[in-house]
Amino acid sequence: MNLRTLSQNYSTKEKCSELLRRLRWPNGVKCIRCDHTTVCWLNKQEKFECGKCHYQFSVTTNTIFHDTHLSLETWFLAVHLIAQSKKGMSSCQIQRTLGIGSYKTAWYLTGRIRKAMEEANPAPLKGTVEFDSTWHGGKRHGGGRGNVTNKTSVMGAIERGGPIRLKVEKRTVSRKNVDLFFKEYVDRKTDNIFTDADPVYRAVDFGEAIHSAVDHSAKEWVRGEVHTNSIESVWSLFKRSVIGSYHHLSEKHLQSYLDEMSFRFNKRHDDSDKLFLDTLRALVNTPSLKFKELTKPEAIAS
Ligand SMILES: [Zn+2]
Repeated sequence: MNLRTLSQNYSTKEKCSELLRRLRWPNGVKCIRCDHTTVCWLNKQEKFECGKCHYQFSVTTNTIFHDTHLSLETWFLAVHLIAQSKKGMSSCQIQRTLGIGSYKTAWYLTGRIRKAMEEANPAPLKGTVEFDSTWHGGKRHGGGRGNVTNKTSVMGAIERGGPIRLKVEKRTVSRKNVDLFFKEYVDRKTDNIFTDADPVYRAVDFGEAIHSAVDHSAKEWVRGEVHTNSIESVWSLFKRSVIGSYHHLSEKHLQSYLDEMSFRFNKRHDDSDKLFLDTLRALVNTPSLKFKELTKPEAIAS
């Protein structure tokens, strides 16, 4: 589906609502108050009415779509643009491309779409896992690990041929936060873990995995299957997308950009149509109250 077919297929509120209805209630419309499955459609009000408790609701009631004055057509186009963009799209780009009146509205829209793209409870990585960390922002002033106060670390792991997990770490990467990262994102029984030769890894608890390192300082990049090239290519993708699309990406917004990037990367073998549908499904199935909580100003990207 390209932009042209999308705007033809979802050119009206009715067409958009029809898709949202199927994504919200794949097994038939249910009352959102009492779960009763006999509901009737009120043509004039454009609402469903529950046959039991008589509550009236539309396909967007209690969803994020209900709280905005943006048309469903605009939401659909924004989801499509973000889903098919390889490097992400900033709120400014969305504002310009869709002709949205205010930056604040575009910011609201993209923030909520990014949140919907986050993976809930990601499965632990397994098999062969590469781990590495990188820096974001500022300039690194020489002199070892202690002197990096104006930079943020990002820790990341990739399952070879599989998904990535990325996490912002405000401080310098330490044994303790690498430990926590592995407990949260990597299966304790994974086969292999590959890193560089940073001494921080010596004391990390890798569970039952065999840990092997390549020593970049000795110009060793690959030893048999031991390397960290896959996670490093994720870092270059991250850096290109920051330079290409976001320009100024502040620390407090970093995690949500990483989440968006992970979502897109982890679905890289899916086509953009599936990504579009998965994002819309998440948007229509997440209660708007939860979105309010998740997207408080301090938690959302600009
Ligand atoms: Zn009911």
